[in-house]
Amino acid sequence: MNTIDLRGRVALVTGGTRGIGLSIAQTLHAAGAAVAVAGRDHARAEAVAGGLGERAAGVACDVAKIEEVEAAIAAAEKALGPIEILVNNAGLTRDNILVRLDEAAWDTVLDANLKGAFNTTRTVIRGMMKRRSGRIINISSIVGLIGNKGQANYAASKAGLIGFTKSVAREYAGRGILANCVAPGFIETDMTNALPAEARTALLEQIALGRLGRPEDVAGAVLFLASDLASYITGQVLVVDGGMVI
Ligand code: NDP
Repeated sequence: MNTIDLRGRVALVTGGTRGIGLSIAQTLHAAGAAVAVAGRDHARAEAVAGGLGERAAGVACDVAKIEEVEAAIAAAEKALGPIEILVNNAGLTRDNILVRLDEAAWDTVLDANLKGAFNTTRTVIRGMMKRRSGRIINISSIVGLIGNKGQANYAASKAGLIGFTKSVAREYAGRGILANCVAPGFIETDMTNALPAEARTALLEQIALGRLGRPEDVAGAVLFLASDLASYITGQVLVVDGGMVI
């Protein structure tokens, strides 16, 4: 089989309400999966799920808060069934150079981007273990591989996610659970729209393909890692950056 068919599978996409997460939710849904869209704003998550159509549910949680995560996952599983594909996409930035980076900016980023993935993964993994099957796909960043000025907190969270993913991959391979990262380069979303024009031009010069990425470029990589085509891939980091880091 060289086509992708996710019919009968249930996915949860954190941060599925906008940007890359929205595109991932749409792409997995179009491949036949039932999709739970998670965001902090319940009404927005429900509206996005409504836009997907049948086989979709909107749930609310701040991924940094374990009680909210547990409640959201319980609601998603009640609506759609056991989660077999977890996409940890929720993330945020609080950029500043190190000498001006305060503890709150450090904690907010680490709590959402790294602890968030711990919270969701720990909550779904017991079910995956029992069923001896599951896919965990964590959205890291090339910044987690090469660092970035003004993003020590964000880079640490995204590098941490890679170590977390590799450990989960080793720990649960024997239970049929595969864990991988996708590391996007610079993708056109709300997160990068804030970049000043000069920074954008400087960035473009570093990208071999000569353009910023689109959310669907990342979603395609996630779809592949969620599919049967990727059954022998675990503990890897798939870079989707238009040839920025070669
Ligand atoms: P956006 O800012 O466009 O969207 C972020 C999403 O994450 C929103 O759906 C938001 O939902 C959700 N979110 C943020 N914080 C939390 C939280 N604490 N709990 C739950 N949900 C949260 O970002 P992008 O689409 O650009 O980024 C998506 C992921 O891709 C992030 O992890 C980001 O770090 C990563 N990435 C992005 C790159 C880019 O160039 N854009 C490059 C490399 C990686 P809501 O506000 O509704 O709660």
